[in-house]
Amino acid sequence: MPRTHVIGAGLAGLATAVSLVRRGRDVTLYEAGGHAGGRCRSYADARLDRTIDNGNHLLLSGNHAAMRYLADIEATDALIGPASACFPFLDLRTGQRWMLRPNAGRLPWWILSSRRRVPDTRAWSYFSAFRFVTAGADAAVTDCVGGSGILFERFWKPLAVGALNTPARSGAARLLWSVLRETFARGEAACRPRIARTGLSAAFVDPALKFLRQRGARVRFGRRLRRISYTSRRANGLEFGSGRIELRDGGAVVLAVPPPAAAELVPGLSVPGRTHAIVNAHFRLSEPAGMPPELPLLGLIGGTAQWLFVRGDVVSITVSAADALAAEPAEIIARRSWNDVAAALGHDRERMPPFRIVKEKRATFAQTPGQVKRRPRTRTGFSNLFLAGDWIDTGLPATIEGAVRSGRMAARAIAGCGRPS
Ligand SMILES: Cc1cc2nc3c(=O)[nH]c(=O)nc-3n(C[C@H](O)[C@H](O)[C@H](O)COP(=O)(O)OP(=O)(O)OC[C@H]3O[C@@H](n4cnc5c(N)ncnc54)[C@H](O)[C@@H]3O)c2cc1C
Repeated sequence: MPRTHVIGAGLAGLATAVSLVRRGRDVTLYEAGGHAGGRCRSYADARLDRTIDNGNHLLLSGNHAAMRYLADIEATDALIGPASACFPFLDLRTGQRWMLRPNAGRLPWWILSSRRRVPDTRAWSYFSAFRFVTAGADAAVTDCVGGSGILFERFWKPLAVGALNTPARSGAARLLWSVLRETFARGEAACRPRIARTGLSAAFVDPALKFLRQRGARVRFGRRLRRISYTSRRANGLEFGSGRIELRDGGAVVLAVPPPAAAELVPGLSVPGRTHAIVNAHFRLSEPAGMPPELPLLGLIGGTAQWLFVRGDVVSITVSAADALAAEPAEIIARRSWNDVAAALGHDRERMPPFRIVKEKRATFAQTPGQVKRRPRTRTGFSNLFLAGDWIDTGLPATIEGAVRSGRMAARAIAGCGRPS
């Protein structure tokens, strides 16, 4: 049977491999590093003496490709979250707390209820969301919803920066619309928050590796693809430090590597070049943080952090589009982050516990209209070479859902099933 070589064992590569194996294909997965997961992984942190994630990852129940991937690898129960959609928020400047609670069904009557919508906002102000439907390819989020006012500060701004890892003033409106269309616009069942129960690797990575190995796929670590050789129409060889692999007839390659690596390997490939950072601060408390186990997250407005997550005695905060913060020393970041945590959870600001700062300086590509136009499609100019990754033109932001969907698109393209799902 012809073999498919999948390069890169991040979520896009894993999803490609899982999807191909489910279709009965012979797959080898190659990863440059010593572990799988890429930008979505856990590791044992010696200072905190805990397993922590490189960054908190929030999904929504409407992320159907991610949910299907978890079902495929038998890891559906690896995520936790509330039985119905609700998002607790705290405005750190005013101390005001509220719960955003979208209703069931497609008619969004929750915006009519002052107990379900953002406090101090009016129902009519939410109708600016309709401008996303007709937003052009060059529109930024603020072109649709404006760039000021309470609804912007407490809803659109955090939503945009969280979903796009790009400030609302430069983030692509169409990408945010794709998220809204698949989640909030479909009612509460599609926008229940979901996070990993014990860690990202336990949820998304380890079960996938087990699935692949049990079905005969080969997984090779420490294999960095250095060069692809081509005839005029197809790739015919893969060169790793350890040797060359000839691509026989029917052999295919899926490149599921980040944009700069893909640009080096594929002649003439257009890729998004700009990136934004995400910073996470993890604190180990002396006792469990005491948030409800089914809702261990909190949106923060007006501070350094945008989201706070709790897992046992580790509390973590996320700052997206954090290029300026990422340039600061870890101690400064920890101090500013702890101020937010202390205010949110009622701890002493002066007694900062042990911390770990994780700076992902190139967390995602900058999801601006200009950069979005540089996203390539799954198929390349070479008949047996395909692309996957959160930066491929999936129509979605660079997220787990986007990465997984890009992998499923690549698998479908290889299987020749026509339109990718
Ligand atoms: C801190 C942080 C927070 C995030 N938060 C969220 C969130 O809340 N919700 C959400 O949905 N998404 C979130 N994301 C985005 C999500 O993690 C990514 O979209 C997703 O993990 C990207 O997967 P990928 O497979 O496309 O890329 P990667 O994870 O980058 O995988 C690429 C892999 O290719 C390997 N590689 C590179 N070059 C080569 C080579 N030449 N040969 C072989 N292998 C190679 C790399 O080592 C890597 O393992 C976050 C990301 C970060 C960094």
